[in-house]
Amino acid sequence: MLTDIEIAQAAEPQKITAIAEKAGIDEQYLELYGNYKAKVDYNLLRREQHQPGKLILVTAINPTPAGEGKTTTTVGLADALSLIGKNVVVALREPSLGPVFGIKGGAAGGGYAQVVPMEDINLHFTGDFHAIGAANNLLAALLDAHIQNGNELGIDVRKITWKRVVDMNDRQLRHIVDGLGGKAHGVPREDGFDITVASEVMAVFCLATSITDLKERLGKIVVGYTYDDKPVTAHDLHAEGAMTALLKDALKPNLVQTLEGTPAFVHGGPFANIAHGCNSIMATRMALALGDYCVTEAGFGADLGAEKFLDIKCRLAGLAPDAVVVVATVRALKNHGGVAKANLNEENLEALEAGLPNLLQHVENITNVYNLPCVVAINAFPADTKAELDLVEAKCRELGVNVALSEVWAKGGEGGVALAEEVVKLCESGDEAGRSAGTFTFSYDGELSIAEKIEAIAKRVYHADGVIFEPAAKKEIAQLEALGFSGMPVCMAKTQYSFSDDATKLGAPRDFKITVRQVKVSAGAGFIVALTGSIMTMPGLGKAPAAFKIDVDENGVISGLF
Ligand code: ADP
Ligand code: MG
Repeated sequence: MLTDIEIAQAAEPQKITAIAEKAGIDEQYLELYGNYKAKVDYNLLRREQHQPGKLILVTAINPTPAGEGKTTTTVGLADALSLIGKNVVVALREPSLGPVFGIKGGAAGGGYAQVVPMEDINLHFTGDFHAIGAANNLLAALLDAHIQNGNELGIDVRKITWKRVVDMNDRQLRHIVDGLGGKAHGVPREDGFDITVASEVMAVFCLATSITDLKERLGKIVVGYTYDDKPVTAHDLHAEGAMTALLKDALKPNLVQTLEGTPAFVHGGPFANIAHGCNSIMATRMALALGDYCVTEAGFGADLGAEKFLDIKCRLAGLAPDAVVVVATVRALKNHGGVAKANLNEENLEALEAGLPNLLQHVENITNVYNLPCVVAINAFPADTKAELDLVEAKCRELGVNVALSEVWAKGGEGGVALAEEVVKLCESGDEAGRSAGTFTFSYDGELSIAEKIEAIAKRVYHADGVIFEPAAKKEIAQLEALGFSGMPVCMAKTQYSFSDDATKLGAPRDFKITVRQVKVSAGAGFIVALTGSIMTMPGLGKAPAAFKIDVDENGVISGLF
């Protein structure tokens, strides 16, 4: 069996100019980055008046650490839609170097459902993340310089919330003391780094609707508090103009292609457990403007990724999906049914059935909480048995859940035609109960208090009994409401492995509460972040990280990326 990178390297991609032409992008909007990548000028959105296409969201059950194939399904579904004659554009996140060199590997799809050039996409690509890191760190430098040069704003160094970032899993930088070396070398303080994809600049970048909106949002970022507890913003530090200058080209969506030549935007990439976890609004808008169908992915399971896509991104961008695809795998369902990770390749119908409530609860959330049409895509893995695949399909049908087997990993677009047909049906005529983009409802009202919003998500989406707010969180909520930040949606930071905040509670747990430890504002992004459990904003590398396998030969050909 060929690896993802071997399949990608064997492909003969088309010139990106041909892909742009296929997508209907006029040459004047195209900025080439070599032969197979291009940035597309956002002015295209201003000048062209298209009827926006149908929006298809791909999400999933709670995953195993390897991922359940959302990107693979997104890409394969788009190729399948292309095969049945639809004009389709993909919108995906850019991979972060942290996971690429850590456990998960890349994020360009898998098997015969990938976007290419996968090495570029997984490594530096068009430099967007470097630009985001630079903008973030410029703000950090301006902040510390302000303190060093007299601290006119009265910033309390013990209440600085802004961190520097690097796009690497580097736990050594999680907690540091800096500004050492004496008076000329800064004011010593406790500090720390986050991974770039966990930064608010990344979230702002992905939620910005124009360069002006980007600048305004950057200006609103809160970097810390004064001695008398007033928020200090990037605007107070005169930072937003220069930060926007660093980001002006990055904000242009990156155009690439799938292995079957379907146009794909790969742009922006916030983590879904600590930020809102989907590609940029610019890329989604562009895909909708160019394609009759836009297929996009939200990170992690639907309790995190789809919840934030729907409650944050759709709310802020005025979007509503026409169909939602919930990706499930036999492996992950067996895991939810109690099978240890080492034994997931063995047939186990009992465990599979025991794991199904995880899938069904995600489906019910989409249909009953968000009122959207939904279809389950069973992402077939090589070790799945026919009996297992049949069981998932039969159980879904028994319960009236739309379902299709997806073999896009093994077969490319051809393996996704059944799924594509189901999706087209849902997009064109809604589901049997009359659900469509027009019936979409959020899981909570934006006018509720911060605590009420968190409770609504916990009860309605996670099926928790309630929320425990730790004393620090209660105090923070009171402060944020006093500062007038209560009208924003809430971005939950939670483990991706469980509906609950405990990664070991698999399936569809009941009788649990969510514990909120900390609540903070991402005023630029425009959401309140509620941290549950111990969520890491700077991951670390394990004993044998993926980086060990990555190599380059004398011709510059990379191996070992996956
Ligand atoms: P997600 O987007 O849900 O995190 P990905 O699509 O990135 O997941 O897939 C994660 C990994 O699993 C990739 O290495 C991909 O090649 C692999 N994978 C996905 N689907 C399949 C499948 N059906 N069979 C085998 N491997 C798969
Ligand atoms: Mg993915």
